[in-house]
Amino acid sequence: MALNLLNLSILFFLLFIVNPFPFVEPRALQLPVFTKTLQNLRGVHKGQKANGVGELRSYLQHFGYLTNGDSSNDNFDNNVESALKHYQEFNHLRSTGVVDDETIKRMSLPRCGMPDIVTQPNANQLLVAPNNYSFFPGQPKWRKFALTYGHMSSVVLSNNFFSSVRAAKLRALQTWARVTNFTFTERAPPADIVYGFHRGDHGDGYPFDGPYGVLAHAFAPQNGRCHYDADEPWDFNGQNIDFETVALHECGHLLGLGHSNTRGSVMEATYAGQRRSLTQDDIDGIRALYQF
Ligand SMILES: [Zn+2]
Ligand SMILES: [Zn+2]
Repeated sequence: MALNLLNLSILFFLLFIVNPFPFVEPRALQLPVFTKTLQNLRGVHKGQKANGVGELRSYLQHFGYLTNGDSSNDNFDNNVESALKHYQEFNHLRSTGVVDDETIKRMSLPRCGMPDIVTQPNANQLLVAPNNYSFFPGQPKWRKFALTYGHMSSVVLSNNFFSSVRAAKLRALQTWARVTNFTFTERAPPADIVYGFHRGDHGDGYPFDGPYGVLAHAFAPQNGRCHYDADEPWDFNGQNIDFETVALHECGHLLGLGHSNTRGSVMEATYAGQRRSLTQDDIDGIRALYQF
């Protein structure tokens, strides 16, 4: 009996070592709620403690500006200030290190869920913010140019909605194909690129957050997964969240581009209305990656 208990203890110990936080669920960033938090933080700066600073830490960590985003720590310390300044610089705002009006406005905009600044695996240092286009760490890219793509959603889509999505997805892929050597052929999954609509926690550790906030995310080559938040007010006429605009951006990630801080580029992280054409920055980025 004692031996069995000992074995059981060892088993639990091993489980804990293998997966030290087995019961922690990934948390979605609730950006519309976060906007209210930001408004309460207006004017807060280094040396102060205020409710919501922890959420600001989480935001800055999620998008790559801070390595420790402990959401229970409401102290606005040196780390938060320098991360906030980094965010402001990357976004062409005044680098005040204070939660000011233009920072609140920028952080409240819908955006892509991928980080702006990507850390090197196992590195403690953040990469320097790019001045224009960027790549994922290690510059992963496709080893072939003839790619297949297909659709698989975990929510039910109406026929009308899906036919609009399909047409917009094709146009977005063709826009990239025109400036590269890539070809895209539609087929039922399995395919090189699999895109779909998902709601909330959908099993990849990056839960969606309901309307607005994070709109979509896509993984670096040669992963091929591209997910759209099913709860967005998607639109095909540029009235609300324009699907083709977001699809064009996410296709950039699928092909190997990170976020750009060039204002107006497709690979800019923030959604700023309909944007269905590539800019020179986007074209320079993809051509530099594949040496076209
Ligand atoms: Zn993105
Ligand atoms: Zn996902």
